[in-house]
Amino acid sequence: MRKKIVAGNWKMNKDLAETQALISDLKKSLPATNAEVKIAPTFTNLYPAYEALKDSDVEVVAQNMHQEENGAFTGEISASMLKSIGITTVILGHSERRAYFGEDDALLAKKVDAAIKNDMDVIFCFGEELDDRKADKHFSLVESQLTNALFHLGEDAWKHIVLAYEPVWAIGTGETASPEQAQEMHEFIRKTIAKKYNQTLADGVSILYGGSVKPANAEEIFSKPDVDGGLIGGASLKAEDFVGIVKAI
Ligand code: PEP
Repeated sequence: MRKKIVAGNWKMNKDLAETQALISDLKKSLPATNAEVKIAPTFTNLYPAYEALKDSDVEVVAQNMHQEENGAFTGEISASMLKSIGITTVILGHSERRAYFGEDDALLAKKVDAAIKNDMDVIFCFGEELDDRKADKHFSLVESQLTNALFHLGEDAWKHIVLAYEPVWAIGTGETASPEQAQEMHEFIRKTIAKKYNQTLADGVSILYGGSVKPANAEEIFSKPDVDGGLIGGASLKAEDFVGIVKAI
């Protein structure tokens, strides 16, 4: 059985006090669940968040990392630095990293390799823009993102990979892919992985949906057979909303 996961991406939100307050609210109100629950605070708050949650079931993950081990890369953070503070999962390929920081599939392939070399897990984000969907190119675009960033991996490396399909037109816009659109794409992704590797491997990969998931729509999206949870942006910043989404899984 593949893992169910709900992960909150806090992006560049919440200072230290706000991070501590939200964690404290989450600790009080998160329900017991069979799903894995993760939060991704900003870099400066990773260690305090890790310390606050290390005895809980909530995992603290990073939003990004650099592909090199160390060196003259001002402002960057490496896999081994993350691991040295207890962080063993990183989000890579988020559409905001792609759009605002020029991260492309070739670079992301290197980041994925660096994470796996350091025995870290990766939540790998990808998805089409609205123009791709309007031009009916969303399937080919998603297939090329997977091929270019992940299909060089050996079978064994896939135990480190969780996928997050995030149609860019649904991120932070309030517009959500319909549960049917999410299922259609997740099924395509799983078939594409099965074609490249094998069905057993494809069946074991958790594929999260991301894009304006809220308590009100989470249950229907999560009910789809190939949707294994969600990567949550805006709604992860309020304990009540995030808890509502975790309850829906
Ligand atoms: C995201 O940024 O990964 C995301 C899904 O954001 P939102 O939930 O706000 O659309």
